[in-house]
Amino acid sequence: MIIEVIKTDITEFELDAIVNAANTSLLGGGGVDGAIHRKGGKKILEECITIRNRQGGCKVGEAVITTAGNLPCKFVIHTVGPVWNGENPKTNTLLANCYQNSLEIAFNYNIETIAFPNISTGIYHFPKLKAAEIALKTIKNFKNIESFKRIILVCFDEENLTIYNNLIKQNI
Ligand code: ADP
Repeated sequence: MIIEVIKTDITEFELDAIVNAANTSLLGGGGVDGAIHRKGGKKILEECITIRNRQGGCKVGEAVITTAGNLPCKFVIHTVGPVWNGENPKTNTLLANCYQNSLEIAFNYNIETIAFPNISTGIYHFPKLKAAEIALKTIKNFKNIESFKRIILVCFDEENLTIYNNLIKQNI
């Protein structure tokens, strides 16, 4: 299994799953969440509403799964990143939980190919380098990592792309 870093729009992937940086309401929002719901269509929103009615949305650090509507992938895993409010170990743990819980759901659904956006580094303002270090560490330490064929870290901006490529080069 090789971790890949690609600069592109995550909604383009024909993978088993893409991960959405959602919010606790699960009703859609801006950034990557908006792009996924716009392109995926109402099927994704309907499934999110069903989950919301059942369990009251999604807590920060947790993850839920839906099918992918009109997107070319099979599933969307919605996880809610923490909002950056300054240095706090709890915030770091919550971001790690997003990657951990998304991978756990993926593993349970026999998902072998998955793409992540740079969770919390947009509207939620998590520092990009710190977020990348947490993402890579959590993915590499995932206990069932060998069951995945591709894990793609999608960078939407040049800064994240440079950060991830540097960390991968340093084998972090
Ligand atoms: P958050 O609220 O978790 O910060 P955002 O959607 O604002 O979520 O940003 C998360 C990351 O997703 C940012 O790095 C942003 O540049 C990136 N992003 C935004 N749109 C897309 C997209 N279509 N594909 C991939 N990444 C995207």
